[in-house]
Amino acid sequence: MEVSNRMTSQSVEDYLETIYELKKEGGYVRTTDISSYLGVQPPSVTEMIQKLAENGFLTYKKYKGVTLTPKGEKWAKSIKQRHMALAKFLEILGVDEELAEKDACRIEHNVHTTTMKRLAKFVDFVHEMAHHPTWLKHFEYYVKTGEHIECKCPTCGSKMGAFR
Ligand code: MN
Repeated sequence: MEVSNRMTSQSVEDYLETIYELKKEGGYVRTTDISSYLGVQPPSVTEMIQKLAENGFLTYKKYKGVTLTPKGEKWAKSIKQRHMALAKFLEILGVDEELAEKDACRIEHNVHTTTMKRLAKFVDFVHEMAHHPTWLKHFEYYVKTGEHIECKCPTCGSKMGAFR
């Protein structure tokens, strides 16, 4: 789709993400629900809906609302995936859930695919661990105290500090 600037493409993504979110409770999403979810005035929603429909991202049915086309659904899913990985990443860093959710929504539009893949790998790496990783506990201790814990694990041993 032709998007003239970053703001435009960002709001396109916000709409697709919102419709995808709200759609869970049924096939169609009412434009009034989009309006209140995004905090945007109904005329602006209508305008954007028309634009998205013209570009094949959704279809609009009078009295029913909008539904995503496969193309729209695909894009929305990828934004949602970026959102989830970013939010989880921020939570690993210790950002509280509410702020992590907000910031994920702000960052998700502007992260390069390569960075995003790496970041998602990192999240999986941490989440797939059987236990809360020791190095993460050390990081949490560092955040609280500004001090490094001397790592007692056999691999690090006395070499702790080599990176500093
Ligand atoms: Mn988001």
